[in-house]
Amino acid sequence: MEIKEKCGIFGIMSSEPDAARLVYYGLWALQHRGQEASGIASSNGKQIFSHKGKGLVAHVYDENDLKKLKGNIAIGHNRYSTFGKNDVDHAQPVCLNQNTIALAHNGNLPTVTKLQKFLKSNGIPTNGLNDSQMMHKAIEYWFVKGKSIEEAIKLNFSLFKGAFSLLVMTKNKLVAVRDEFGIRPLAFGKINGSFVFASETCALDAIGATFIREVMPGEMVVIDKNGPKSYQLASDKQNLDIFEYIYFARPDSNLLGKSVYEVRKRFGIELAKEVKLRGDIVIPVPDSAIPAAIGFSNASKIPLEMALTKNRYIHRTFITPAKNQRSTGVKMKLNLIKEVIKGKRVILIDDSIVRGTTSKMLIELVRKAEPKEIHLLVSSPPVKYPDFYGIDTPNQKDLIAANMSLPKLTKYIGANSLHYLSYNGMLKAIGIPEKNLCTSCFTGNYPISIGNKIKKIKF
Ligand code: AMP
Repeated sequence: MEIKEKCGIFGIMSSEPDAARLVYYGLWALQHRGQEASGIASSNGKQIFSHKGKGLVAHVYDENDLKKLKGNIAIGHNRYSTFGKNDVDHAQPVCLNQNTIALAHNGNLPTVTKLQKFLKSNGIPTNGLNDSQMMHKAIEYWFVKGKSIEEAIKLNFSLFKGAFSLLVMTKNKLVAVRDEFGIRPLAFGKINGSFVFASETCALDAIGATFIREVMPGEMVVIDKNGPKSYQLASDKQNLDIFEYIYFARPDSNLLGKSVYEVRKRFGIELAKEVKLRGDIVIPVPDSAIPAAIGFSNASKIPLEMALTKNRYIHRTFITPAKNQRSTGVKMKLNLIKEVIKGKRVILIDDSIVRGTTSKMLIELVRKAEPKEIHLLVSSPPVKYPDFYGIDTPNQKDLIAANMSLPKLTKYIGANSLHYLSYNGMLKAIGIPEKNLCTSCFTGNYPISIGNKIKKIKF
């Protein structure tokens, strides 16, 4: 079974001996990027220590675990996986050989043919290894032969075909690398003379670090006791995944200089320009659609009501792989305030429709409060193509917009009407040129080869 990962990574080379604790705080701030497993590896210059476990950051570490993670260098990872294969063997950082290197990967390599060939031809078995473990093996291969970590990564860079924001640590160096398309984000910051990398800027804020810049696509930044050094391993072909703006990233993060919150608010403003509806109240699906609903409400002058409330202690519904479990998840997670909804023309705003399970459940739920009408507005275009670069968007047959016309889908979810934000409206709201974004889930344009998988896709 294939594993795809949309994860959170955090790393620090600190001036203090307690680097793992800062990584732990960073992982708390990146919990939204992965809830299945978490891990930290650290080094005190002599030895690499690691601790990993299944579940949320809050469950994986206790004070004793943190105390054992000694040293001034540490990297951490929150893992998000799909389809049940969530055993701790796949938790990261990968440190197959405790005393060489540790690696944390956000992204996914859709093709590993070249990498596998390289490993096999050097006598390294690849059976049962996932893409991140293969990358680790390939880097380690050169490293144990005496190459520096910089050299070891450089020698492998062209074998890594896909999306990767990587943190690699040795006993005395911390390295950050991004694929040349920069599909997954990676921010670079500093705090009191220490250097930090994080999937999102919100995690820099969490530890009081200041943002320096993003690690550039195709760039490798190496930190050692003399400070940072940058190497451009491939030309920068910036193609940040557009879904980071739509759903993944936290609203208090910045991506390519744009506030995610402001972008989402503009999605709502664009929606209000495109969709003229008579409604009494605007209700966001919490939390990801709140900024878009604020934008829509401000622009349409229809009042915003937080009539759906979220149980903050239940994490994202997508995480439960089976469809029936996901349905229960929605009910457990959201409840409604009937008094606000009864008799009203409701404009419900959500950030995206993927499988359609959430929308159907939501509309069933809202109907219980006896509104006059329910109109569902989605602050992104129809998701028609599967993802291969580290998001959990499934087979094309499961993507409801790829399989149903708008009227059919409207009927299926049970809304009075359904409207999506247009593709151009979305781009306008983001304000980044289309050529710098990976739009594959909407357009089917895959910037990095997905190999044979392309044959299964209907265009
Ligand atoms: P569904 O249409 O039931 O598959 O779920 C769509 C909902 O899940 C949206 O409202 C989003 O908030 C959220 N969502 C969208 N894409 C993803 C993703 N790749 N991983 C997790 N949740 C997602």
